[in-house]
Amino acid sequence: TGSDGPPDGDLREEHALLAEEIRKHRIAYYQEAAPTVSDAEFDALFRRLEELEALHPELVSNDSPTQEVGGEVSSAFTPVDHLARMYSLEDVFSLEELKVWLDRATAGVEQRSPGAGIQWLTELKIDGLAVNLLYRDGELVRAATRGDGVTGEDITHNVLTIASIPKRLAGTDHPEVVEIRGEVFFPTKEFGQLNERMVAAGKAPFANPRNAAAGSLRQKDPAMTAERPLDMYVHGIGARTGLSAETQSGTYELLKAWGLPTSPYYRVLQDQAEVVAFIEHYGDHRHDLLHEIDGIVVKVDSFALQRALGHTSRVPRWSVAYKYPPEEVNTKLLDILVNV
Ligand code: NAD
Repeated sequence: TGSDGPPDGDLREEHALLAEEIRKHRIAYYQEAAPTVSDAEFDALFRRLEELEALHPELVSNDSPTQEVGGEVSSAFTPVDHLARMYSLEDVFSLEELKVWLDRATAGVEQRSPGAGIQWLTELKIDGLAVNLLYRDGELVRAATRGDGVTGEDITHNVLTIASIPKRLAGTDHPEVVEIRGEVFFPTKEFGQLNERMVAAGKAPFANPRNAAAGSLRQKDPAMTAERPLDMYVHGIGARTGLSAETQSGTYELLKAWGLPTSPYYRVLQDQAEVVAFIEHYGDHRHDLLHEIDGIVVKVDSFALQRALGHTSRVPRWSVAYKYPPEEVNTKLLDILVNV
């Protein structure tokens, strides 16, 4: 970073236009589940906005898309506030950028807790929809979309139709109040069949399983959601009234014991070379999975170190998403469209 001097009028205008375009795409993606550009195109616009702001920090305002979690809340749903804020993730698009990020996090930890050392929790970046589950006395009392991180959309009735999400937590050692975060996804295997049915019924097919998950979950009628084979994996925890685990991985073990669906694919790794090997392995096997992934998430496993690194207004500083290069257009979908 570093300033090239005050931004000229052209740069200010480019910044304003880009921010406006990104806001428009976020509304299409989050509120309408009908994006008009690919994720890679969206990511390139977002990246350009970040570059402009890195060169000219004067351009950063509180309402810049870089400073906000971008899940616009639709008026079709009742808004609900999360007890603890939900965040997005910082993206990196190459192993070089990942190394810079890992080195920076390591230096940040070393500065705050000398000699602590870091264990990296690596897991799949599920291409679905973030959902916050609120359990009181072990009972599922509310479910909401992430929304802007502070306020989400109440989708409790729809989430209650998802078989793998327990209505009641198993055991008795859970906190009185606990928020559990995860990703609801549309299994890849069933996606083609859903689109065939949509087209046969004269409706527009979904562009990808992520949009099918969002469209299925954000229905006004829970009976419609119940017909879709939605599933979920949990990947985080929000507010809680006490928890025996001190690590992200230890928390997953607890969540699993409470009957929540945890991913079988996470690992706790000791060094950067192992993290890179994990990324390369799933780069080769991303189509052998139950759900689509768009990358790998790397997290500092220790809660004490997560707290030491903290958050920005948009993302945690203890986690990063490595995004795989974009793939060819879904050929199955193209076939369907061509045959309409
Ligand atoms: P993101 O999808 O890059 O990352 C954050 C989200 O990842 C979290 O909120 C969480 O729900 C999810 N996630 C999946 N697996 C996870 C795991 N194992 N651990 C933690 N989190 C996990 O960020 P975002 O803010 O939700 O959305 C931005 C992305 O959405 C963009 O990079 C773009 O790809 C896409 N997008 C596309 C358009 C478009 O018009 N095509 C518009 C807006 C956003």
